[in-house]
Amino acid sequence: MHHLFAGWFTLLRKQSGAWRYPAGPSKKLTESLLLCLYHYVLLSLLMRISGAALLVVALVLWTTESGTADAVPNQTIRVAIVKQAATVVVDGVGLLAKRENGDALVVVPPVTLRPGGEGILLDGVGYRRLTFSAPGAVFINGKPYRGQSEISFGDRGILVVNELLLEEYLVGLINCEVSSSWPIESVKAQAVIARTYALYRKELKKNAPFHLESSVLDQVYDGCLIEDSRAKRAVSETAGEVLTYNRAIIQAFYHSNCGGKTETSENVWGLRLPYLKGVTCEYCLGNSSSNWEQKLELKDIEERLRAAGFKVSGVTDIRPGGRNNRGRLKNISVVSGRGTVTLAGDQFRKILGYGVIKSTNFSVRVSDGAAVFSGIGNGHGVGLCQWGAKQRALNGFSYTEILSYYYPGTVLEKVL
Ligand SMILES: [Zn+2]
Repeated sequence: MHHLFAGWFTLLRKQSGAWRYPAGPSKKLTESLLLCLYHYVLLSLLMRISGAALLVVALVLWTTESGTADAVPNQTIRVAIVKQAATVVVDGVGLLAKRENGDALVVVPPVTLRPGGEGILLDGVGYRRLTFSAPGAVFINGKPYRGQSEISFGDRGILVVNELLLEEYLVGLINCEVSSSWPIESVKAQAVIARTYALYRKELKKNAPFHLESSVLDQVYDGCLIEDSRAKRAVSETAGEVLTYNRAIIQAFYHSNCGGKTETSENVWGLRLPYLKGVTCEYCLGNSSSNWEQKLELKDIEERLRAAGFKVSGVTDIRPGGRNNRGRLKNISVVSGRGTVTLAGDQFRKILGYGVIKSTNFSVRVSDGAAVFSGIGNGHGVGLCQWGAKQRALNGFSYTEILSYYYPGTVLEKVL
């Protein structure tokens, strides 16, 4: 641009007789004046061009920004928030109720639903299914939920399914699973794996009444009560991003604290997945979540085992079995007057409670009718270690680096 303009100016100068150079000092003056004029015209033109260019850039950015805003993923997810309930109380400002055929139903909140009739009873009238929505949130048993909540009679009681935008679900979930006050890169890693996990389950359960549980069985979700701006930021900065392996959405298992080594999926569920092979992770050690101790009366352990169908009577000892290649117990034997019963590590945790026996990496001491379990780590240990991810973020790693560490061979893709 500058070169073309200079050529045009030289041509103009040559054609105009008035601009012919006089001899002597005045020639210098004229040259200086011409140079000034040249620079003035050139600069003002360049400024105009730059201004126009800036305007174009701003327009492009604005359009892209608007495009992103328009393209906020509208994928929804269905989460079971109440199961097998005897009553459910629904409340909310501007609460709207709809029958199964879509007809509106006038209700005066709060309303109490009970099993009965074709499915559920409201004010003595039976319905198969009722759907509630409200401009802000629908309160189910006192907890606020976004989107709409669908109430029907499920398996042995009332079932409430919350259907909402996936991205809104993720914002609510962040503080149930980790804390949004953690370093932002670890919160972003959590947003990506929660989205990945949810979309995998959605596809798997596309014909089921709901896609996800709201407990540790899937992902802990407690409505929108604990949403905050950092959780929103982590979700929006990773909008639509999931982890894939061979172009397919992965099963993004994760857990609280691996205790030093993450676990292979095969050791826990007998399912071999190339991206869940187990990695070394010392980042989660040395904090409040890494070690645990639990004292249980032998008679309580016996009661739990009997309730789960095991024939035990008069438990006298708990013996840890062999350990797998990741340091966790493969099995645990329970000695009682009726012989010895051997359970797989994960089965033992499930029966006694995942929150009671926090991992299968423990030792046990039996004395005076009680067993004292001393363990390391929290959770099944497969996939991302949340406390490890937190420390890696503090060490300066980005969320993409954290994810590729815990799920080797996977690719981060924007799919929504
Ligand atoms: Zn770890």
